[in-house]
Amino acid sequence: MESQVDLGFLRHALMPSWNSVSPQFRTPLSVALLAGFFTYLAIAGSILPGKLVPGVALADATRLHYRCNGLLSLLLLVGLLGIGANMGFVSPTAISDRGLELLSTTFVFSFLVCKLRVDIWSVTLVLYFSGCKSQSKGSSLKPHISGNLLHDWWLGIQLNPHFMGIDLKFFFVRAGMMGWLLINLSILMKSIQDGALSQSMILYQLFCALYILDYFVHEEYMTSTWDIIAERLGFMLVFGDLVWIPFTFSIQGWWLLRNSVELTTASSVANCFVFLIGYMVFRGANKQKHMFKKNPKAPIWGKPPKVVGGKLLASGYWGIARHCNYLGDLLLALSFSLPCGISSPIPYFYPIYLLILLIWRERRDEARCAEKYREIWAEYRKLVPWRILPYVY
Ligand code: NDP
Repeated sequence: MESQVDLGFLRHALMPSWNSVSPQFRTPLSVALLAGFFTYLAIAGSILPGKLVPGVALADATRLHYRCNGLLSLLLLVGLLGIGANMGFVSPTAISDRGLELLSTTFVFSFLVCKLRVDIWSVTLVLYFSGCKSQSKGSSLKPHISGNLLHDWWLGIQLNPHFMGIDLKFFFVRAGMMGWLLINLSILMKSIQDGALSQSMILYQLFCALYILDYFVHEEYMTSTWDIIAERLGFMLVFGDLVWIPFTFSIQGWWLLRNSVELTTASSVANCFVFLIGYMVFRGANKQKHMFKKNPKAPIWGKPPKVVGGKLLASGYWGIARHCNYLGDLLLALSFSLPCGISSPIPYFYPIYLLILLIWRERRDEARCAEKYREIWAEYRKLVPWRILPYVY
């Protein structure tokens, strides 16, 4: 009986409700929120000023250019939402009140067809078919069709599909990271509204907000990451960006809304240290590689860099482990969960998932680099034997 009630509740919570935005427009609120969010991102991304960053050279020697105005877009959006909430146009808890509904709507969005002209952004099926038509395009648009429809739909067939001048891969990852912050802010408002704002919630919110803001401050680094340079845009990436990032990375916040945790001062201080060390390693390593790619002679930690075969950096963080940046990210992920205490494994979903993902990804990257750099990579491996964590892995 109880499970029937729970299932009924779940079905109800997942279904887009017809609580419309206004009597004139009978649109489910979750659909309106998503459509509004995507429309804002498309407009802001196209018109707001930002540094134009050249991407890595493609197979045909051309480069795409990315307008890195994510930080400005995000700050403006949060400002506009703040004003809207103050004036009573939007509810600050609109997202946290209907998290499951938004989740299912976003899932459907990432499953269905891209139809910007009409008024709905969606994605993967049409990417598949439009991709098939672009045989004559440059290497970033040239379709890679395996013949297995499911495989091609899942992994994608184009490296950098565009829609109305918008680079969809860059757009979706931006939407995911911003969506995560918006969900968190709505959770924060909900806990304030409920009179249940705790130290745990403040720490969780602070760490995530700093991480997300930092991501947008350094948005140009994104242009040289694996997702942008190597992964094609299929359902896997779209789902990862639009559903997985915002809805699973915020599990700790949802959990804290329903559970209270008493943190000692010592554990809070230790938690801050984990965050700071994680941040230092994560940002430091990614920055060193980025600087090295731009200028292979740029000093690392005040000294000339140690370089293998003229191409691989083997000093700084890249001399400690071959993927020290993953170590930093894992420490950060842990710091987002520690405010929830250790009474439940649920808030540890994100660090556990990230551990599995990054070990898998490190293996794939290792294979890619071994093939690309051959004897240079073997020499680098000898010089830096650890993959992620020195003396452990
Ligand atoms: P990296 O930024 O580590 O990029 C790997 C590439 O860097 C390699 O393929 C190679 O590319 C180059 N490279 C590797 N070693 C060296 C070296 N010693 N010197 C010079 N170049 C080198 O990987 P990712 O793109 O996977 O990750 C970027 C960041 O994103 C990481 O910090 C990661 O933690 C984070 N991330 C977070 C996720 C999350 O869900 N939170 C998911 C995935 C990543 P080339 O051929 O160009 O030389």
